[in-house]
Amino acid sequence: MQNTMMNFPLTLTHLLKRAGQLFGGSEIVSRLPDKSLHRYTYRDFQRRASALAGALQQLGIKKGERVATLMWNHYAHLETYFAAPCAGSVLHTLNLRLHPDDIAFIVNHAQDRFLIVDDVLLPLYEKFKAQTKFEHVIAVPLTKQPVAAGYDDYEKLLANAPAFDPPPLNENDACGMCYTSGTTGKPKGVVYSHRSTVLHALATSTVDYMGIGNRDTLCPVVPMFHVNAWGLPYSAAMMGAKIAFPGPHLDAVNLLDLMVAENVTVSAGVPTIWMGVLQAVEKEPARWKLAPGLRMVCGGAAAPEALIRAMDRYGMRVIHGWGMTELSPLGALNFIKRELTDLTRDEEYAVRAKQGVAPPFVELRTMAESGEAPWDGVAMGELQVRGPWVAAGYHELPSESDQWTADGWFRTGDIAIMDEHGYMKIADRIKDLVKSGGEWISSVDLENALMAHPAVAEAAVIAVPHPRWDERPVAVVVLKPGANATPDALRDHLEPKFAKFWLPDDYKFVDAIPKTSTGKMLKATLRSQYAKLFIS
Ligand code: ADP
Repeated sequence: MQNTMMNFPLTLTHLLKRAGQLFGGSEIVSRLPDKSLHRYTYRDFQRRASALAGALQQLGIKKGERVATLMWNHYAHLETYFAAPCAGSVLHTLNLRLHPDDIAFIVNHAQDRFLIVDDVLLPLYEKFKAQTKFEHVIAVPLTKQPVAAGYDDYEKLLANAPAFDPPPLNENDACGMCYTSGTTGKPKGVVYSHRSTVLHALATSTVDYMGIGNRDTLCPVVPMFHVNAWGLPYSAAMMGAKIAFPGPHLDAVNLLDLMVAENVTVSAGVPTIWMGVLQAVEKEPARWKLAPGLRMVCGGAAAPEALIRAMDRYGMRVIHGWGMTELSPLGALNFIKRELTDLTRDEEYAVRAKQGVAPPFVELRTMAESGEAPWDGVAMGELQVRGPWVAAGYHELPSESDQWTADGWFRTGDIAIMDEHGYMKIADRIKDLVKSGGEWISSVDLENALMAHPAVAEAAVIAVPHPRWDERPVAVVVLKPGANATPDALRDHLEPKFAKFWLPDDYKFVDAIPKTSTGKMLKATLRSQYAKLFIS
């Protein structure tokens, strides 16, 4: 039997039209490089994004061609988020924290045709310009200075744009692309479709997930060049939520000031951002009056339980989630299921520190290499995933096809434990696990326990080659300003919580832990730094 439903395409064109028609009065606020605030409404946004789409068409962009961006989080980036896909082209957000040579490599690999760049980032563009050949480079005059010769002026393009004639789009057409941040390997390009992006926005906006509603004010701290700021700009526009973009000002004090001034109710970022925010409020507890019930979605790396507990004390609810560039990014988010409402406080925190429950249409499974439970009798294995917003391949990299199983699941490269309630907990990345005497040790568990010590600001646990045990864990620790702790004190702190062979063999105190361009601990660098600790 044939169904009688309309085959209405799931495209961003609908979301753009809807944002202007239904939410014209909602505000979009952006902190500019000079710290002043740019304000306008969804009505202006829809008009300008449509003008940009018309301008891109007039400049000759064709279906499926890439429009790259080199921009901070602000209104013009949001306009491009919709204009490029609605014009039929593909939004490709470039990570401005990468080395210029790496940006050039990615631009060429993606075959980007146009570039839209913040005027304040033109000096960065100049560093890789010679290695690339964009046909048009469009500069956004955020500083209100005249755009330098040789570049198209974003504002002039918009002012002179022809009426936008939306091209017919299929929901499976490409709409965006992002490269993985390359924490453990070379960056790989993932291409999203209108359909995958729309479904991701719908699922992530449900109440138990990010629950972005019309009455929310969203502050996306996660950069718009990192997995589309976790898809949040699309979710916010879909619901007409107010947005407060932080621009380039991502330090704790500026973020807190913005959150108070704009009455932010939901935000999202990596743990290091929230650790900075926590330190700032601990230092001046009375300074910021945040919105009651403020939610901070936290992912990209494990959120330590100590962080979740401490943020609660200041009225900030950390919501742990897990994702990947290949997953658009949401693969799991934490909420307390009704069957768990009788938990003690400590039990509830232990659940909240897990990465969470898969959203509708995402399926997770853990596959143990040997089929045996490697430790503590808990079944654990490589996390595999499938769903409509999970990548089925990489852009022009057929050689990477072994990241998918023969039965069509994506191999995440993470090791996870699934509990009986369906909560997924990441134990480690496969490449970061410590293998000692044939047994596995979770670096993430040790790090989280170390970060619960009052003197510890941050900790990384790495595998160091060992002549007898193959590998042994070593903790690299950053102490809080003015705090003291000896290796013995840290060992005493860990001892009651772990099997003896889990305890790190050494503790190294450092000023800072090296981080990737997206704020994750660079364990590969630490591993090579301490590679000779036990073997000379
Ligand atoms: P990269 O692998 O280069 O860092 P991504 O930015 O796509 O690229 O990061 C995805 C990875 O980040 C995941 O595979 C996982 O290892 C890690 N990750 C993301 N969220 C979490 C989390 N909540 N807890 C632990 N690890 C996480």
